[in-house]
Amino acid sequence: MPTRYKAADKRTGVAVRRASAEFQNLRLRFRPDHLNVVLLKKYTKAMYARLEKADREMMIAIAMATYDDLDREGAAEVVDGVLSAYDPVTGYVYHREVIRKRDRLVESMAAAQDRAAMQEAISRAQRLWVAQMKQFADEVVDAAMIKSYRDAGIGRVRWVTVPDAKRCTRCAELDGEEFSIDDIPSKPHRHCRCYVVPVE
Ligand SMILES: [Zn+2]
Repeated sequence: MPTRYKAADKRTGVAVRRASAEFQNLRLRFRPDHLNVVLLKKYTKAMYARLEKADREMMIAIAMATYDDLDREGAAEVVDGVLSAYDPVTGYVYHREVIRKRDRLVESMAAAQDRAAMQEAISRAQRLWVAQMKQFADEVVDAAMIKSYRDAGIGRVRWVTVPDAKRCTRCAELDGEEFSIDDIPSKPHRHCRCYVVPVE
């Protein structure tokens, strides 16, 4: 049932295009021959802040689309909970990782000897940004869904593995297992689109 993540897929498509435009501007603006690192740092700081802010708004919209009864404030709380906590799936805190990825981009651009190397550094940063954004958008879906169960007084859930999701072979043994809502295991891998359903 991949429709569960439809709210995320629709909106991350827009975010992918936004990231693509931002990274393209970066490609056009900086060249390895006269690279001004101070300017580059300033530019990427503002750029990543814009991306982070826009993606947070997108994730708030995803939370509201996933759980109809959430207002903006409640949705922001869900999103900020996901973005500010240590994430067991990725092994990092979102915001800290954004800064780390940005600093690595600046380093690799500064180290680039030619135009091709610089383009590759930017493309790599773009891929990493998009992968991170999609991962956390899915986690916002999960968090909003679990909050909706909790608010409805549901105490137990059952793990559902999407049978056609090739990436989720590692989740097969969790399929059909029941858990207390306070004790749901972390997703075993990135891009996992398994989900839990209430046990009546
Ligand atoms: Zn899975």
